[in-house]
Amino acid sequence: MGEIILEARDVRYRYPHGMEAIRGISFHVRRGEKVALVGPNGAGKSTLLLMFNGMLRPDSGVLLFDRQPIRYDGKSLRELRRRVGFVFQNPDRQIIAPTVYQDVAFGPTNLGLPDGQVRAAVDAALRNVGLTGFERRPPHQLSSGEKKRVAIAGVLAMDPDLLILDEPTSNLDPAGSEDIMELLEELKANGKTIFISTHDVELAYPWADRVILLRGGEILQEDSPDVAFGNTDLVRKARLSVPVLLDLHQELERRGLKLPEKRPRTVLDMVNAIEQVSRKGASSPLYGTIHVCNVDETGQEGLSGWLSRHDGISLGAMGTRAKQRASDEGLTLDFSYGVIDKCILKALNGRSSLILTVGGMVQQVERRVTAFQEESGAEIPVREVERT
Ligand code: ADP
Repeated sequence: MGEIILEARDVRYRYPHGMEAIRGISFHVRRGEKVALVGPNGAGKSTLLLMFNGMLRPDSGVLLFDRQPIRYDGKSLRELRRRVGFVFQNPDRQIIAPTVYQDVAFGPTNLGLPDGQVRAAVDAALRNVGLTGFERRPPHQLSSGEKKRVAIAGVLAMDPDLLILDEPTSNLDPAGSEDIMELLEELKANGKTIFISTHDVELAYPWADRVILLRGGEILQEDSPDVAFGNTDLVRKARLSVPVLLDLHQELERRGLKLPEKRPRTVLDMVNAIEQVSRKGASSPLYGTIHVCNVDETGQEGLSGWLSRHDGISLGAMGTRAKQRASDEGLTLDFSYGVIDKCILKALNGRSSLILTVGGMVQQVERRVTAFQEESGAEIPVREVERT
């Protein structure tokens, strides 16, 4: 893990004429981490996040970005806000311009970039969030999920080091939430650090590298999700619930089932744990293959030709560009979230699959399958679709 990028040291904040919302908080976030600040309504999540982009100033304590204390003069704040992208819970608070293009261009234009560079930054940001073609649309006519993407694109156009998102999936339907979490996964794979707040434990549990449990303006615990959410007493104290998979794991253990020690983060982990107990001594099964295709390097002919030769294969896409490509070619996706795990589950049942993706995500598939192989002993073949 990288060096510390964000840090709070004994920070306190009281709203004018209000109660103390943040009561002596210390923690840090490292470069390249995905951290979730988890707590019930009123815990102080928004207040804490707003301090990291200088919108609120602590009464005492120190906040540091990139190891420098945050300063509050205009020039320092502009620089901070360029490097720390902040996505509000309510996109209507963020989106201000009459068209998507103008909205996303707002930040880079304010930086004084020449028109050509502004255009390039907007194009790249819209491509990243899967909204190419939306440039002329008025933001108020978009769906909640699309608005959220416009807000994220506006932040990405500044090429920040760190993205802070306050309740990124609030008001989104399940598919919209999955899309946003997948987008965050992709941004992390591209080197961004991601810090979110949420009260949704099921969302934070499989996603975060680390969670910080917050209640009443204080940190209750800070650890890997399986440890933090595994502390049932604390979780209840925080008025949260234990993630279902963890609850099930604990329940099975209480009933004397000797499961592998590693706590399951995903359905795949859980299936693997149960299979390891139930399949001892059984003959080794035949696994399906996971094919991976980098859509940036495979032409339409190549992809459709490959699919016509592999009838009945399950199809998944990871990342916005890959999903866009699937949609452009009229392909129906079987999986669009948690794709690698779902393809591993298929492979365990002897079924093959194809994952459409881009760039560094190809290696991510290989890494995840190798890690699973080491844990489970299941030798699932991964093959890259040849470039055309
Ligand atoms: P969360 O994001 O976890 O729901 P908040 O940071 O919004 O929590 O709120 C933390 C506490 O601060 C709550 O008790 C809330 O009522 C209070 N609070 C939030 N905003 C204001 C405000 N503008 N003025 C006074 N009190 C506020």
